[in-house]
Amino acid sequence: MHWKVGKVKITKIVELETVGSTRFILPLASSEEIRKLPWLIPQFATEEGRLKMSIHSLVVETPSRRIVVDTGLGNDKQGRNVPTWNNRNGPYLETLTQAGFPPDSIDTVLCTHLHVDHVGWNTGLVGGTWVPTFGRARYVFGKAEFEHWRDHSDEPYQKAVFADSVQPIVDAGKAELIAGDARLCDEITMIPTAGHSPGHMSIHIQSEGEQALLSGDVAHHPCQMAHLDWSSTADSDPVQSALTRRQLFARFADQPTLVIGGHFDAGHIRRDGDAFRFDAFKFISLA
Ligand SMILES: [Zn+2]
Repeated sequence: MHWKVGKVKITKIVELETVGSTRFILPLASSEEIRKLPWLIPQFATEEGRLKMSIHSLVVETPSRRIVVDTGLGNDKQGRNVPTWNNRNGPYLETLTQAGFPPDSIDTVLCTHLHVDHVGWNTGLVGGTWVPTFGRARYVFGKAEFEHWRDHSDEPYQKAVFADSVQPIVDAGKAELIAGDARLCDEITMIPTAGHSPGHMSIHIQSEGEQALLSGDVAHHPCQMAHLDWSSTADSDPVQSALTRRQLFARFADQPTLVIGGHFDAGHIRRDGDAFRFDAFKFISLA
């Protein structure tokens, strides 16, 4: 599955897809409430009102760079607070390679934030040691985000995530810390979008008059465009995250901007009353 934004190509690499089982992350998104938002169905929710979500990476190819945005859960990790995220043995790297992106062809890894489901494949277990999965890449983290999790990983599972998926990148000398509004290359600028996490960044892509927004976890699901106050249980600051949603969606609403979430598929943001809705991207078949 891929999209074009001027000279930039974006490809989605899925690690895990889920339907339902999302009440723990978005407790207000009951099936009854979701069925009141028919524009979510069928792309983003089922007829029964169950949410469709995924854990995925986005490979962004510019004329000069090959970037992996967010790296999922990873294999062999332990100490996670979601039991099924431990000791995984998934085919993510095979999927990535089959899509045309062997790990050594990646020159940049960019994490929107440093939560467990966005840093996992930063590293892989080799001979009992966590080593960088993308051996030729520099890994780009937000400075504020990195410093927060380095200094304030209070829970054991947060410590585990930092220790096995972030610190080894630093130890290998491959980490680069950037400001939340940094320009990564000609086509890519970061947008600071704190709330879900203290140093969360979204990614703005511009090329040849076209643009895209990789929103990360500003919203976990498009239902939060209609209900901006439906903060996720994973949001570190639920009030700020709601404010950030309103600001970011207002900036990109009613434009031809392609928007892809950290856990949902592509579409376009539209104003809808005092909030927003999300129109699923329609693929044009070239066959
Ligand atoms: Zn996430």
